[in-house]
Amino acid sequence: MTATPRGQRKSAAATKLGTVPTALLRRIEREAGGAAAKAAPAAWMRAVAHACRAELAERLNETMQADRDSGAKRVHYLSMEFLMGRALANALAALGLDAPFRQAAEHAGVAAADVLEREPDAALGNGGLGRLAACFLDSLATLGVPSFGYGLRYRYGMFAQRIQDGRQVETPDDWLRLGDAWELPRPELRYPVGLGGHVASDEGLARRWVPAQTVYADAIDFIVPGHDTRRVAVLRQWQAAPANPIDYAAFSRGDHLGAAREKLEAESLNWVLYPDDSTQAGRELRLKQEFFLVSASLQDMLARHLAEHGTLDTLGDKASVHLNDTHPALAVPELMRLLVDEHGLGWDAAWAQTCKLVSYTNHTLMPEALETWPVRMFEQLLPRHLEIVYEINSRFLDLVRAKLPGDEALVRRVSLVEENGERRIKMAALSIVASHHVNGVSALHSELMVQTIFADYARIWPERFCNVTNGVTPRRWLAQANPTLAAVLDERLDGPAWRTDLDRLAQLAPLARDAGLQAEVRAAKRANKERLAALVRRELGVSIDPASLFDVQVKRIHEYKRQLLNLLHVVARYQAIVAEPNANWVPRTVVFAGKAASAYVAAKDIIRLIHDVARVVNSDPRVGDRLKLVFLPNYGVSLAETIMPAADLSEQISTAGTEASGTGNMKFALNGALTIGTWDGANIEMAQAVGREHFFIFGLSAEQVAQVRALGYDPRLHYEENARLKRVIDAIARGDFSPGEPERYRALVESLLKRDSYLLLADFHGYVEAQAAVDRAFIDTAAWDAKAILNIAGMGSFSSDRTIREYAARIWNVPA
Ligand SMILES: *Cc1c(COP(=O)(O)O)cnc(C)c1O
Repeated sequence: MTATPRGQRKSAAATKLGTVPTALLRRIEREAGGAAAKAAPAAWMRAVAHACRAELAERLNETMQADRDSGAKRVHYLSMEFLMGRALANALAALGLDAPFRQAAEHAGVAAADVLEREPDAALGNGGLGRLAACFLDSLATLGVPSFGYGLRYRYGMFAQRIQDGRQVETPDDWLRLGDAWELPRPELRYPVGLGGHVASDEGLARRWVPAQTVYADAIDFIVPGHDTRRVAVLRQWQAAPANPIDYAAFSRGDHLGAAREKLEAESLNWVLYPDDSTQAGRELRLKQEFFLVSASLQDMLARHLAEHGTLDTLGDKASVHLNDTHPALAVPELMRLLVDEHGLGWDAAWAQTCKLVSYTNHTLMPEALETWPVRMFEQLLPRHLEIVYEINSRFLDLVRAKLPGDEALVRRVSLVEENGERRIKMAALSIVASHHVNGVSALHSELMVQTIFADYARIWPERFCNVTNGVTPRRWLAQANPTLAAVLDERLDGPAWRTDLDRLAQLAPLARDAGLQAEVRAAKRANKERLAALVRRELGVSIDPASLFDVQVKRIHEYKRQLLNLLHVVARYQAIVAEPNANWVPRTVVFAGKAASAYVAAKDIIRLIHDVARVVNSDPRVGDRLKLVFLPNYGVSLAETIMPAADLSEQISTAGTEASGTGNMKFALNGALTIGTWDGANIEMAQAVGREHFFIFGLSAEQVAQVRALGYDPRLHYEENARLKRVIDAIARGDFSPGEPERYRALVESLLKRDSYLLLADFHGYVEAQAAVDRAFIDTAAWDAKAILNIAGMGSFSSDRTIREYAARIWNVPA
């Protein structure tokens, strides 16, 4: 093995600190066409990004060269989402360019913060699943794991959220207008991707796909720096291009729009993440996107392997293909097609390689969220792949019959083809059948996974299923998001090494009652709360008191995450304050943020109700500073980086058994917030690591939830028995918060009283009690600070570095 750059601790750039500012200034002047001082912050941002990109490109070449030379096994992480956020502050920190950048900015009289804020978020993901993939890239780079992240280059990402009259409005997120400064196009990497057409047999009876249409996939790299190493990771994003850019004949006839039809059709593959799936065209586009991602990525992987090794016989020893949920599950039939039809392997040899390559992470237990595709649509777009899926299925079902004879009901249940109603292909089943490992993302989730949705498959292959609990990168979620607390940790933990060795946080535990450390942690929290208060004033025109308890729930708006339960407590508190204004209230600021899927009516109703309640509560003179309620629009990575360090209390209140892991919970605790939460997902392992007595746990367990449902749950009993709950629901139902339209929340209230699918009413009492315990704990400042320190100290194992090490050791079989 030749010398690899991993392990080299100091970057070359960091050592020539003195010369960098002038080099940067010159670069900025060159790019922005004038004196650096006059350049606009956006021009600064681009110029600094370009300087970083040049250094990163050099490191990428070194990394790739080292991996070629060592013949290392590589991980190929396929994901439809990478929620990257901004890149500049992270790159500056990783490259040791942060101080030079700040010096250069100061020298030119430009505010460094303004420059950083001009960078748009790369919001190429929806929530936790996409952010996990982004944290993984950071850890893959930092741990030096040879790898490729593969994704799509969404031109307009997710939507941007605006609030108009209390309602969510979606607008396109034109992030690439300024965000392309990081892109490294690879014009030499272009692969054809077919769609539609038919299957033909050649003379040798081999089956071959004849697509009706071909688009090209062009590679555009986005380089992710490692920390404390020159190694980098890469996110290779695919951009679709038409085979014929314009129809020359049509253009000459004067049909200019018609001439661009093929170009538009190809490029629409890259427009948005999550085309609205309420239409046939939207669903078809999504399937095309999924295929486009896997076909281009696998062709890229095979081309590299052949160039380096000359044979596909060693593919499974030198590569690993990981499916982040089932969205890239078409990798299974596409890999088989490429190996058998294009590269001439026999079926058995190809299948052996495929099974050696593929592994899959499940992210949800909700049956309605399991992806399936109608056979009819599959056949139209991917006729050869459908044949391959049928062949995989037939061999699989033979194996099931041989392994567990005499159980035809089982055979029907595990089949890759759903036969009830419209025939559909089950993507989770397809992923499981081809994978050497299938993992869940927290201990509870992995346990429930094999007991519920995948119980049949776990009977067939018990050894295939395992757990790898999620984690988050401490570089972004502590060092970058919370520099004030990071400075305290640098001081107390003998330097910055905790950034890449998070277990060092445990050294804080014996100091939890140290008055000096408590004061430092409290001061950092206070500064972060003031920063958030300033943002709230700027964005919403609402004044919030940094001395009040900041009670925060930020995440996608979804019924199972139970933002509505939080809101029921807010209303109960409001009513209690009005009834007894002179009681000893602990002042609270309740903060919400999150997007609702554009077609998800119930989630949008919750956003509206939050705004209606906020208007009433915030303007009621009887309430004053005792209670404030705010909703910050357009939740995303950058907003999370501002909000989370300012939280005293983290709301993780999903119905037990529904949140696979959660990662927001980890980010909050890492920043010294205490958690109020259910016994669900990673909350459980966090509480065990921190100490249950430093968590506010409430509500039914997953087991109890299952029991209650099995016995027949009647939410009305809780409504009738709990006077406080009844007053809250009656107020919403009466229109107390929507006086101009008393019926506005009729559907919401009706659904609560009739179904209450997520058992809000069953958990309401326990939740309100837990909130009272939070109040009592908060006024004992020293005890609260000790708990905050113990929460931070217990978070060592929730680093994504630990997560990636586990994937490397247990699933991918690569060193890390
Ligand atoms: C961490 C994160 C999430 C996931 O949050 P959960 O609370 O685990 O659902 C979603 N969106 C963004 C922007 C995040 O940073």
